[in-house]
Amino acid sequence: MVIIDTTPPTIAAIYTHYETRPNRHRLHLGASEIGMPCDRALWYRFRHVLESKHPGRVCRLFETGHREEARVIQNLRDIGIEVCDRIDGHQIHYRDPDCVWFTGSLDGMARGFVEAPKSWHVVEIKTASKKQFDRLENKGVRRHKPEHWAQVQMYMHWSGVKRAYYLCVCKDDDRIYGERFAYDKPTAAKLTERAHRIINAPEPPEVAYTPKRPPCLWCDYAELCAETRVPDINCRTCCHWYCDCTGERCVLGLEIGKLYCDRHMYIPALVPAEVVDVYDNRIVWRVGTDEIATGPGHNTSEYLRQVISNLG
Ligand code: SF4
Ligand code: SF4
Repeated sequence: MVIIDTTPPTIAAIYTHYETRPNRHRLHLGASEIGMPCDRALWYRFRHVLESKHPGRVCRLFETGHREEARVIQNLRDIGIEVCDRIDGHQIHYRDPDCVWFTGSLDGMARGFVEAPKSWHVVEIKTASKKQFDRLENKGVRRHKPEHWAQVQMYMHWSGVKRAYYLCVCKDDDRIYGERFAYDKPTAAKLTERAHRIINAPEPPEVAYTPKRPPCLWCDYAELCAETRVPDINCRTCCHWYCDCTGERCVLGLEIGKLYCDRHMYIPALVPAEVVDVYDNRIVWRVGTDEIATGPGHNTSEYLRQVISNLG
């Protein structure tokens, strides 16, 4: 009798390898994120409130999507399209001229498309499951994947190239979707304003939390909005971290770059506990029936976090 283990130990080891790789947060707010639906989720992401953890299989799936980019670029070159996907060996990278944190790296610039041979285009390459691919074919990029449309708008805005070619490969049957679209200046201006507003906000933006409906239904931060989880401890969740579009600093004059220090104190809006008092660089929190002071000479953020987490 053959015993089939659906995840044999060797395969499990491959997945574990993906799960245990360092999962570094992005330092910036990316063009690929700015079209996402919720301001607060973007703020949480920029502030590194939770480290995202995905199963190893899913991490590998992300990698599969990235690998497809090189193949599609080769497909374009094979039919005579001129593609620039690297400058000095690096991906083409843009930074918002008015905000050091708002950036993006595009898949390429290309010229020679059959539909418009003379025009340079921003090229963006994605992959999708059959279900998503079929929807994309029915609705087009702007309606089905507004976050991708927004991403490409920012690339056109920053590069000055007024046309884009979006390609998407179906992971089930290798069909390729292609759509050209044009730069939309008002949209790029709105996205830029949104990015600046989120980056400059000292606290999470107020939004309606609707746990039973998208986007909250599948949001990585739902436990934070439901106040059943305490964020991670790092400089970006500390009330001493000051950030705006020009840069960052610790208002205590400490060095930023380490994960955090023992002077960390949570931004009150991030903690599911009432602030009872604030004095002499300390915060007193009500947790259940207890009062807990955090700050120099008192408890650490880690202690506060553990007490709240233990309450369930
Ligand atoms: S749970 Fe909903 S409100 Fe909260 S961050 Fe996510 S999408 Fe936004
Ligand atoms: S006090 Fe410490 S944790 Fe807070 S911002 Fe400064 S260096 Fe970072």
